[in-house]
Parts: sequence; C-alpha cells; structure tokens
Amino acid sequence: MSETSPKLRAELEGIPTYKPGKPAAAGGPVAYKLSSNENPYPPLPGVMETVTAAAGSFNRYPDMACTALMNELSERFGVPLSHLSTGTGSVGVAQQLIQATSGPGDEVIYAWRSFEAYPIITQISGATSVQVPLTSGDVHDLDAMAEAITDRTRLIFVCNPNNPTGTVVRRAELERFLDRVPGDVLVVLDEAYREFIRDPEVPDGVEFYRDRPNVCVLRTFSKAYGLAGLRVGFAIAHEPVAAALRKTAVPFGVSQLAQEAAIASLRAEDELFGRVGSLVCERTRVVDGLRAQGWTVPETQANFVWLRLGERTVAFAEACEQAGVVIRPFPGEGVRVTVGETEANDIFLKVAEGFR
Ligand code: PMP
Repeated sequence: MSETSPKLRAELEGIPTYKPGKPAAAGGPVAYKLSSNENPYPPLPGVMETVTAAAGSFNRYPDMACTALMNELSERFGVPLSHLSTGTGSVGVAQQLIQATSGPGDEVIYAWRSFEAYPIITQISGATSVQVPLTSGDVHDLDAMAEAITDRTRLIFVCNPNNPTGTVVRRAELERFLDRVPGDVLVVLDEAYREFIRDPEVPDGVEFYRDRPNVCVLRTFSKAYGLAGLRVGFAIAHEPVAAALRKTAVPFGVSQLAQEAAIASLRAEDELFGRVGSLVCERTRVVDGLRAQGWTVPETQANFVWLRLGERTVAFAEACEQAGVVIRPFPGEGVRVTVGETEANDIFLKVAEGFR
C-alpha cells in the first residue's frame, strides 16, 4: 500500500484531538476524579445483574436496531419509533448529525466556550465552525447566534445546560430564537445534563421538537443514568433527520450490554433520580460554599460548577491534584469541577478557600 497522501496527512494533523478529563492516578495523591462530569455513584445492583447476564452472550453481535431500547424510549418520551435513533454516546450521535448535514463550505454555529467536541466533529466533517462568544455572564448569546446565521448555516448546537459553565437557556428566549431560525437549519438541543435541571423556566427540549421539524434533542445515559462507560446516547427528531441518523449509525455501535443496561436504567429511574436529587443538593452546597468564600459563580443547572480563575487556572488545578482531586482546567480561563462525592467536594472547597 502507498503511504498516506500528503493532503490527507495534513488534514488529519489539522484536526484537534479530543482531550478527556484526566483520570485519578492509581497509587498517586489523587483519590477523586471530578474532571469528566461523571456520576459518582456505582452502578445499581439491578443494572449490574442485567449487564452480567448479557455478558454471557457477547460472542454474538448486538441487536443492530436496538429494538427493545427503542421501544422503551418511544414509550418513555411519547415519541414514535421513527423519530428516534440511538448511538455510541450522544457525542457519537452529534458526530453523525454533522456528517449527515454539513460538509466543506457549510457552517456549524455554536456558543463558545461550550462542549469541547463541537469544534472537533465539525472539522472532521470538513465544515466550518462559527463560534459565538458567551455573554459576560457566561450564558448563550442567542441574539448573536441568530445574527450569525448565513445561507451556509446547516446546523446550530444549543448546549442546555452549557458545558462547561452550567448555565441555561430559558423557555421564552429559546422560543424567540427558534422563531428566527430558518426551517432548513437544524437546531440541536444538546441536553446531556437535562435531569439535573431544577429551574422550572428551562424547557424540556422534547416540548420544542414536537411542533418543530428542524429541532433535534440529544440525550445521554452517561450522566444521570450513570452509564458513561457503556456508551449509549440517543436523538429525538422528526423525519428525515432521525432516519438519516439511523442510516449513518456505525453498524452494531451500541453493544448488547449497553442496550440492556440502558433499558434497566430507564426502569430504575426512581432510584437513579433520587441519586440525582442528592447530587443537586450537593451542587447547592458547593455553589453556596464558593459564594460564601467570595467567588462569583454562574448559576449552574448541571452536575458541575465553573470557576473563572484566569491566569491562576493551572495553579489551581495543580493544587487540587495535590490535595487529592483531579478537576478540569481550561488554561487562562477557569476550571470545571464535577459535583461528586461529599469528601471530594469538600477537598475542592478547601482548595478554593486557599485561593481567595
Ligand atoms: N454533550 C455534552 C454537553 C457533554 O458534556 C457530553 C459529555 N461530556 C456529551 C454530549 C457526550 O456524552 P456521551 O457521549 O457520553 O453521551
């Protein structure tokens, strides 16, 4: 085989690498991982049992159509099967969405800073990122995003709550924004942290999808449902968007273990959402604690908090690591810290106090 062509090599080298949250080093000073917005609770015993039983048949391919999971999702969200598609994590579905809609010459709009994967998956498809700065209060500037729409715009991400700031877009402003978006531009409401929202003014994206064929809702089992390691997410959208997603899915991309665990988790929502409630209480404690120390913290509706530290960002992350928690620094800007175990949150609060 010939060597990789210089053009392909240059294109590949130009694509930034996705940087996952740092792991907590085994045997090192770091005991807690607050860097990837994961659920700190271990899998529920019932979910473990289901997964263990499914493991007995992993010599077989999974059900490619995710039939049982799709049926469960259809019932749970009150949407027809034809409006659903599952994928390898919601980031996998987001990548499919861009590939299905956008290519060279097309534009993808999203707020910045927002989810790290957006610029990468946009570049992979050959489309151009149009990044619209967050307001000074770290919230989406939906007016500026609407003004950024051109004839080349194919897709817009609205990350609600936004990663890494935790800030939200409320019903009235989202409605006003959607009214300004042309019908042939797809708006993806990325609701990875939906279950942690307590502000009643934040809409469930599914409300907007119902009468708007250009709205697609992205959800995941990685956060509130605690299945990050199993990689399963899904989209709710009208035809032809959902059909395009089903066609472009990686064949057998969602393992049988993931499918079974997702079904078991949907059936154990009461217990899982009880855990979410505890994390929301912890979130309030952490935010109040930071504010009592004198920090300005944006109102977060997700399972993480955003602390602006500017030039002190890296030093702060290092201090946390020394103290036993690994967090997510965005050098020069700030840190994103997952709300985790009580002890881990306490360590973070103590380090924050030392930086006042
Ligand atoms: N969207 C947002 C806003 C996220 O923060 C994440 C995970 N960090 C994802 C999507 C992807 O999650 P997953 O692929 O695990 O479903």
